[in-house]
Amino acid sequence: MNLGEKEFFQRERERLVRQLEREGILKDPYVKRALLRVPREEFVLPEYKRYAYVDRPLPILAGQTISAPHMCCIMCQALELRPGHKVLEVGTGSGYHAALCAEIVAPEDSEVKGHVYTVEIVPELVEFARENLRRTGYLDRVTVIHGDGSKGLPQFAPFDRILVTAAGPDVPSPLLEQLRRGGRLVMPIGPPHGIQILVLVEKDEKGRYHYKNLGGCLFVSLRGEYGWKL
Ligand code: SAH
Repeated sequence: MNLGEKEFFQRERERLVRQLEREGILKDPYVKRALLRVPREEFVLPEYKRYAYVDRPLPILAGQTISAPHMCCIMCQALELRPGHKVLEVGTGSGYHAALCAEIVAPEDSEVKGHVYTVEIVPELVEFARENLRRTGYLDRVTVIHGDGSKGLPQFAPFDRILVTAAGPDVPSPLLEQLRRGGRLVMPIGPPHGIQILVLVEKDEKGRYHYKNLGGCLFVSLRGEYGWKL
């Protein structure tokens, strides 16, 4: 990549961040720093590079999409991600959202090292995401696993934070169980192409769950054992 292109995308990233702040969406300084550092153009297909900083989802492979930046922002903020957290993401897709999380929980210059485990059901997307994360320098902080993430990852549980980036019928019970007490989970709930809402679940110190509706959204469908039978 030549210098001109690099500077162009840097300016685009700054413009998008200002836009999200003006719209009142972006508030958390950790999320702002991550949005300014992760190059979204490296996570989209080459033909969509020039749209990398338009605030919209974009097609990736296998009929899936990379979420819109404002949605990544809303989910990261609702999770209240902090350095040191162990995070589970269900639905790796391009790897972009996992990189944003890694930038917050395991910043390069910090002693505190959290980690992101992310599960993807489509094999070609596992490869796509790994390559994107390797090229951008996040593969040491993000572990990409091929499988059905609706069952979680019991071998790495409990998690401080869990995000699901595909819409399912309900929050899968294994994910609730694998969430640490005091932890937070965000997930879109609703039918394919229908009305979906983004849900925040807080697990308190006594192990009780508190649900909050964060508003309407539109995601691709969660598949697997606790997903929709497509
Ligand atoms: N977070 C992604 C967005 C991906 S879209 C990004 O930043 O690009 C949702 C992804 O969830 C798709 O790639 C889809 O293949 C995947 N998915 C759907 N059901 C799944 C399941 N049960 N386990 C793991 N991944 C799943």
